[in-house]
Amino acid sequence: MQTMLTEMIMSRVLIIGAGGVGSVVVHKCAEKPDVFNEITLASRTYDKCTEIAGSVRERTGREIQTEQVNADSVDELVNLISKIRPAIVINTALPYQDLTIMEACLNTGVSYIDTANYEPPEEAKFEYSWQWAYREKFTDKGLTAILGCGFDPGVTNIFCAYARDKIFDTIEYIDIIDCNAGDHGHPFATNFNPEINIREITQEGRYWEEGGWKFTPPLSESRVIDFPEVGERRAYLLYHEEEESLVQYIPGLKRIKFWMTFSEEYLTHLRVLENVGMTGIKPVEFEGHEVIPLKFLKALLPDPASLSIGYKGKTSIGCIIEGVKDGRRIKKIIYNVCEHEKANREVGAQAVSYTTGVPAALGAEMYLRGIWKKPGVWNVEQFDPVPFLEELGERGLPWHIKDL
Ligand code: NDP
Repeated sequence: MQTMLTEMIMSRVLIIGAGGVGSVVVHKCAEKPDVFNEITLASRTYDKCTEIAGSVRERTGREIQTEQVNADSVDELVNLISKIRPAIVINTALPYQDLTIMEACLNTGVSYIDTANYEPPEEAKFEYSWQWAYREKFTDKGLTAILGCGFDPGVTNIFCAYARDKIFDTIEYIDIIDCNAGDHGHPFATNFNPEINIREITQEGRYWEEGGWKFTPPLSESRVIDFPEVGERRAYLLYHEEEESLVQYIPGLKRIKFWMTFSEEYLTHLRVLENVGMTGIKPVEFEGHEVIPLKFLKALLPDPASLSIGYKGKTSIGCIIEGVKDGRRIKKIIYNVCEHEKANREVGAQAVSYTTGVPAALGAEMYLRGIWKKPGVWNVEQFDPVPFLEELGERGLPWHIKDL
C-alpha cells in the first residue's frame, strides 16, 4: 500500500506555459492516467489554463488543476512547486524562463524537462552553455534535467542517436530537414511563439564542418529538397540549437546542416517587417512609452495556438544521414509526417505544436518510468533512443526509415 501511494505521488506532473505546445502536452499527459495521475497546468495568463482544462475535460473526462504563475520569478515558482510537489516540471513557457524554472526545480528537489534552450531576452542568441552550467548542481542533488525534448530539437536528435547506435558504424554527414507544407489561411503568421520564431530566423546562418562553425548571412543559402510525402520545396539554411549538442554526441561527424522551408509570402512579409524595424528587440521611445518592436509585432500577429482551426496540409521533418556501415557508404532518411487537420481533431492543435508537445510528454513519461532517469543535465541524444522511438508512433508521431 505504501509503495502504491508513493508511486502515485511520484507521477504528479506540473506543466508551465499554456500556449500551443503546453496545450498539447496537457492533452497527451491526460491520455495516460497510469503515468500522469495528477496534472497541474500553470501559466502567466490564468484564463488560458482554464480553457485548456475545459478542452481536456471534454475530450478525456479528466480534471486538470490550474494555477497562475509568473515564471520569471524564482520565488513564485518555488512556492508553486512546493505546493504541487510534482515529480517533474515540464517547461513549455518560453526559452527566457528556462533558467528560473531550473533554479526553482533545484531549490525544491524536482526534475526538469523542456523543448528549447535558454535565450537571454535582451540578445537574440541561444546556446546550451547557460543550461549545461547546471550539470554539477543537478548531479549533486540527484535530479534529472532533460533539454530540448520537442521535435527539432528533440525527435531529430533521437533519430540521430538511433542512427548512431543501431544503423551506422560512423556518421559523417547530417542534414536536418524541416518542411511545413501546411496552409493556415493567414497572409503572415508564425507556427510557434512569434517572438522566438522571428529571432531565430533573422539570425546569421551557421553550420558545422570539419571541426568548426561556418557562418552565412541570414537566409542566404538555399536548396531544393525532396521532402517525404510533400515533394520538392526550397529550404533555407538556418542555425538550429540541436546542432550544438549533436556535434558533441555524434562521434566522427564531419558536417551538420539544418534546412527549413518558408513560403515566398512569409519571406516577403519578413523582409518588409525587418526593413521597417519591426523585428528589432531594442526598446524604442514612442509617445512617452518604451516599446520593443518585436514584442508589439507579436501582439498583432495570430496566436500560434489559434491557427489550428482550418489549418490544412502536412509537416515533414527528418534527418538525412550519410556514413559508413561494414565498410560500405550508406545514406538514410529518418522522418515523420504529421497532418495539421488530424492533430486538430485529436487535441485541438496545429501540427507544429503537436509535433513538439507529443515528444515532451513522452520524454517526461520516459523519466517517470525510470528509463531516462539519471542525475545531471542531458540532451536527449544522450539517452537510449529505442524505448522512446518504440512508443513515439503509438503516441501520435509514426516515423519511418528509408534508403536514399
Ligand atoms: P506560446 O507563445 O504559444 O506559449 C508560451 C506560453 O508561455 C504562453 O501561454 C505564455 O503566457 C507562457 N509564458 C510566457 N512567459 C511566461 C512567464 N513569465 N510566466 C508564465 N508563463 C509564461 O508558444 P509555443 O507554445 O508555441 O512555444 C512554447 C515553447 O516551445 C517555446 O519555448 C518554443 O521555443 C518551444 N518550441 C519548441 C519546438 C521544438 O520542436 N523543440 C517547436 C516549437 C516550439 P501568456 O499566454 O501570458 O503569453
